[in-house]
Amino acid sequence: MQPYGHFIGGREVPAKESFEDLNPYTGDIFSLAARGDADDANAAVEAAREAFPIWSQLPPAEREKVMLNAADLLEENLELLREIIIDESGSTITKARGEVLYSASLMRAAAGESRRLYGETFPNDKPHRLSMVIREPMGVIAAISPFNAPLSLLVKMIAFALAAGNSVVSKPSEETPVVAVEFAKILHQAGVTPGAYNVVTGFGSDLGGALVEHPQVNGIAFTGSTSTGVRIAQSAVKSMKRMQMELGGKNPLIVLKDVDIEKAAEIAAVGAFFHGGQICMSSARIIVEEEIARPFAEALAKKAASLPLGDLRDPKTAYGPVINQRSLDKIQAHVDSARAEGAEILSGGEVHHGLVFKPTVIWEPPRTCAAWCEETFGPVTAIVSAKDFDEAIEIANESDYGLSAGILTNDMQRGLSAARRIHCGAVHIGMHSFQSDAMAPVGGIGMSGFGRSGGHYSVEHFTELKWISMELGETPNPF
Ligand code: NAD
Repeated sequence: MQPYGHFIGGREVPAKESFEDLNPYTGDIFSLAARGDADDANAAVEAAREAFPIWSQLPPAEREKVMLNAADLLEENLELLREIIIDESGSTITKARGEVLYSASLMRAAAGESRRLYGETFPNDKPHRLSMVIREPMGVIAAISPFNAPLSLLVKMIAFALAAGNSVVSKPSEETPVVAVEFAKILHQAGVTPGAYNVVTGFGSDLGGALVEHPQVNGIAFTGSTSTGVRIAQSAVKSMKRMQMELGGKNPLIVLKDVDIEKAAEIAAVGAFFHGGQICMSSARIIVEEEIARPFAEALAKKAASLPLGDLRDPKTAYGPVINQRSLDKIQAHVDSARAEGAEILSGGEVHHGLVFKPTVIWEPPRTCAAWCEETFGPVTAIVSAKDFDEAIEIANESDYGLSAGILTNDMQRGLSAARRIHCGAVHIGMHSFQSDAMAPVGGIGMSGFGRSGGHYSVEHFTELKWISMELGETPNPF
């Protein structure tokens, strides 16, 4: 098996040391990936720093062309990338395919942003002064990404940063290094300046510190768990780096009594079980008005029990394995403790096979248990009943997280009222909590992080504002 290298300065650099990249569905070794260290991180930052003046000063039309080429190449390489995503991350064929196509659409959305680094002028109280504000790329961005959507989340983090003229060093999850290196090759085929986009693979503990604390890194884009995000933020703040933190969630889905129960259960099942619940925005806390709570819970449990699990390349398969044994153990522990604390398990609650956990619906857990309060990141959702709309909102807001929420109702006034009252970064009316849009500002509040990514919101994040003023006449000198 030919070991993968890093991708630095426009070429694949052989690994000094490798580690086994496992297929979570079969348990087999999928590939050998480069285990990077601080020297590799430093080399990637140096390459990015050297490329920055070239890439950032290209005419916007040139950067736009590269991004559009990359979008086309992503589509041309759909099969290659899809197969890697299936084997490396345990995604189903449907999810893997969707990720590649979404990545292409992110690239196209970012391409247009290359031309939109808008500034402004404003009147100055001193009569002969002109004030203007321009937007400049920040420099080198370190982009640290998670395993669950290993291509599209990485692309979302880097596409807008590159479009704005920054150069980037990517550190993908140690669970999914190969798709990141293949993506780097595609971006170079698309014509990106060598060194403007680099990938170092390996473990955060080996190279994360070197990347985050590097004096030549100007900004950090991190998507991952809250605990890692807090650690990275603590170390990045020492050199006052700009940060974008997209962290975990425990997202509420409110179901009001006016809905069609079967239809609501179908929507909730997607929100809770898509990619086995390994989605930051998955609908993990379902709050239902009490008149329909039990029938809704039973409909959802029935739907859950009917979800086909198995061959990842069968388009009917609902989801695959969780990423590793540690994750499976945490999921089982959350379910077991909810049961021990008096909750009823309406479906699932145990392993299906290998690292595949059955779709699990927990009924009325205490609102202090781990399965209700902490991110499970597995195919587990919990339902509690609320006596009315106001109590449902109160329960939804009982969380340290604040990423995303959904509300199912036919009453649009209540839907919009809920959207205004729920504390989080996004609320979806008539939908579950997991939605994506290349141009929308995605991000959270509280322990779900800060900063927004997507469309021009990303560009704002990855650029610095500079105030330039000019004396056009004679302003009296006070001395
Ligand atoms: P993780 O926090 O374990 O790892 C994320 C990345 O951080 C990986 O690349 C990892 O190698 C790296 N890392 C770990 N320690 C580091 C260190 N000390 N320095 C630098 N880098 C380090 O997260 P994960 O398990 O890969 O992903 C799942 C988590 O990501 C969940 O909590 C999920 O909610 C969250 N997530 C959030 C969003 C969002 O948009 N808010 C999207 C997807 C996933």
